[in-house]
Amino acid sequence: VPDLELIQSRIRDVADFPAPGILFKDITPLLNDRHALAATVSALAAPFRDTGVDHVIGLEARGFIFGAPVALELGAGFVPARKAGKLPSRTIGQAYDLEYGTATVEIHADALHPGSRVLIVDDVLATGGTGRAAVELVRRAGGTVVGFSVLMELAALQGREKLPDVEPHCLLSV
Ligand code: IMP
Repeated sequence: VPDLELIQSRIRDVADFPAPGILFKDITPLLNDRHALAATVSALAAPFRDTGVDHVIGLEARGFIFGAPVALELGAGFVPARKAGKLPSRTIGQAYDLEYGTATVEIHADALHPGSRVLIVDDVLATGGTGRAAVELVRRAGGTVVGFSVLMELAALQGREKLPDVEPHCLLSV
């Protein structure tokens, strides 16, 4: 599959970022390449073309970059899911565990309508904590999760196991 090879070739490994011992997957070369960017957006959207998606939720921050063009491709609206305290109006939040401590993702309380069909988009599926929290948030907001589409799964971290009810669509597994 040439598109996936192109996409893979544009992801850069950066050692010891943001902390020693971490091999960070840097997607900025992919964003920089117009062919790789278009192929990524198209492949993230492809399985969900005829599934009646009403809203795409992008997870801060790199999920915003892919989520908005995926929403355009699917004829859906875009909803940002942000870290606690960033959204201006009334929010609902979902806390989740990090390696050290906890974090919270929030959406605006009025972002979804009852029965809203939602596709969640992000760049990387790592431990699955963020994705799990987003799924719970959608359900508590009255929406239905249609899918979870990500550029890259870090398979060794087994995030997929936290999302058995969603079956993440991952373009690359590394
Ligand atoms: P999780 O909650 O452990 O699955 O982590 C997923 C979140 O962490 C996503 O929002 C990613 O953007 C971010 N993330 C984790 N590892 C990487 C990486 O190597 N490159 C870019 N983002 C990462």
